[in-house]
Amino acid sequence: MLLGLAIAAAATTLSAQQRPAAPPSPLAPDPNIKTLVSRLDLEKYKATIKGLTQFGDRRQGTKRNRDAVDWIEAQLKSYGCANVERIVYQYTTRPPQGGGGQGRGGQKPPDPIIASGEVREGPGGSRYRGTTRRTGVNNDPMLQPDEKLRALNTEPATDGERQEVYCTKVGATRPDEMYIVAGHMDGHGWGEAANDDGSGTALVMELARIFSMPDVVTDRSIRFALWNNEETGTNGARAYIEQRQALQGKENPPGSGRYPEPKWLGMIQHDMMMWDHGMPRADGTWNPEQRPEADVNIEFQSTAKKADEAMKLAFHFRYANEIYATDYPAAVGPHMTNTDSGPFMDIVPAISLRENERGMHTGAGWNPTWHQPIDVYKTFSDKDFRLGLNAAQTTFAGVAQLTNARLK
Ligand SMILES: [Zn+2]
Repeated sequence: MLLGLAIAAAATTLSAQQRPAAPPSPLAPDPNIKTLVSRLDLEKYKATIKGLTQFGDRRQGTKRNRDAVDWIEAQLKSYGCANVERIVYQYTTRPPQGGGGQGRGGQKPPDPIIASGEVREGPGGSRYRGTTRRTGVNNDPMLQPDEKLRALNTEPATDGERQEVYCTKVGATRPDEMYIVAGHMDGHGWGEAANDDGSGTALVMELARIFSMPDVVTDRSIRFALWNNEETGTNGARAYIEQRQALQGKENPPGSGRYPEPKWLGMIQHDMMMWDHGMPRADGTWNPEQRPEADVNIEFQSTAKKADEAMKLAFHFRYANEIYATDYPAAVGPHMTNTDSGPFMDIVPAISLRENERGMHTGAGWNPTWHQPIDVYKTFSDKDFRLGLNAAQTTFAGVAQLTNARLK
């Protein structure tokens, strides 16, 4: 008590002139970035998700998936996003491997609670606690009550050629370096893949739209990538790495000032952005409403070769959220897993943004729509869509800072 008083007394003896100037508040927004972030709009974000749901669950290896790639490409072109390009690769189904998790179809839909109170190991180094529910991929068409949607989702996947699309904001002074902003456009489960991963795909498309506006300048480049084949094991992201890793930072043709594959500075993945309703209740039911304390979960993987840099990148986005997101905060965790940032994480700092932590939340059955027939647009409320919009604000602001984005 006495000591505290003494310190307080000493502090007051420092006059205003003796004190060093206060550093700028870390919470002060950059007016340029604030203006740009305000161009993100809930109704536009919803409309882009709605547009993606016209192709059903967008299962890889089907016409509905190819049609969705064409549609995404047309949108990116309409935004004026530069150099819209495709990766072409082959996909062959691997023979089924044992075990559960998010494997291929044939698994039962979620059934009543399977554990309560015990701590179990989850994916990515996570721990399950409290009430958990079984997860899996619905493969039963009859669980989709909407006959039109059921018919749309009927064609099965066929092995063969696959394509995925990306476009690029070319940096004004550092076109040879880029951040990759990504989501996966394929889905499954006989719904509309509205949340998994229409919500992440639409987020990436919305960022591409705004960064491509003619009055926006960045120093560094930004690539917007919509991976295919995530649900079969991140095959689309792996194909990209295989085909393009060695091209990084090379000017082509020499002397042209063009860099078809800028050097990778970071990879920011978005996978399931809208549903944070909390843990299943003790009776196995879920809160039907977004919980008020919902947040954006930013994850890096502590076992990655680039873990330290990825952790810094994750906190960079968390700070961006504090300054620029309008409704929901962000949290950082060390157990990123099961998404397209995984194949990048030993090469470049890689993080994922999600509605929940993939391990201890999603893996424990916190999202009843996951890979299920109810992952359709109409399941989600504006509070859900708004969480996705806040993730978009977070990534937009974080990337805008990293690339020095500004208005002309
Ligand atoms: Zn996903």
